[in-house]
Amino acid sequence: MENENIIRLSVFLGLLILFSALEFLIPRRVMPGSKPKRVAANLSLVVIDSIAVKILLPMTAGIFAVYVADQEIALLGFQTPVLIAIILLDLIIYWQHRIFHVVPAFWRLHKVHHSDNAIDTSTALRFHPVEIVLSMLIKFAAILLFGIPVMAIVIFEILLNATALFNHSNIKVPFDNILRLFIVTPDMHRVHHSVIVGETNSNYGFNVPWWDRIFGSYVAQPQQGHQNMKIGLSQYEGGETSLLKLLLMPFKAK
Ligand SMILES: [Zn+2]
Repeated sequence: MENENIIRLSVFLGLLILFSALEFLIPRRVMPGSKPKRVAANLSLVVIDSIAVKILLPMTAGIFAVYVADQEIALLGFQTPVLIAIILLDLIIYWQHRIFHVVPAFWRLHKVHHSDNAIDTSTALRFHPVEIVLSMLIKFAAILLFGIPVMAIVIFEILLNATALFNHSNIKVPFDNILRLFIVTPDMHRVHHSVIVGETNSNYGFNVPWWDRIFGSYVAQPQQGHQNMKIGLSQYEGGETSLLKLLLMPFKAK
């Protein structure tokens, strides 16, 4: 478990630096707004999220998976094989994301992520701590229900971290049309951050791109094109970069 934390942190920091460098070298689109302020707010949120999870939850998902396996208390009655468990977790997170867009109380939390008026690799870190804690509880429920093995949790969490950093990045990726058959690409996920509501409510996938195609939420390209499309939410047109305002956003009327 100690090794797991070191591996996760190394992958996270390594990819954050790599994608930030590629955004500088081969950017996909011109970035509007104040980049240092945005990035500082997004980085602050990921630090607060990590602390909130540590304080509010008694154990990590990995330790809970070991406990469920040891005690043989999975409600399904057996452990799901690792590969199937990873795909199952990805399907669960797709529907979780979709539900967070539809149920008003959950949207209040998730709109913090969408209130960024630009999208780059730092946007992948921009989540309200309550949304992160709820996501963890959903993962705990999946572990208890389906007996998700600890190896699947470790692989999935590293994978999700890596793909989220990648698909939010502002990098010019070659062969997008082929790549997006296997993985959610930045061009595909950028549609999800459009101010146009029909586009915000599309392309919910994080890892594999198939769920959007299967469940009818796939939009191939933004109406306005990648260079001209507006990012964010119409009610937060200037983007929100104050950490305090971001933390209070779900509890405000707007
Ligand atoms: Zn979303």
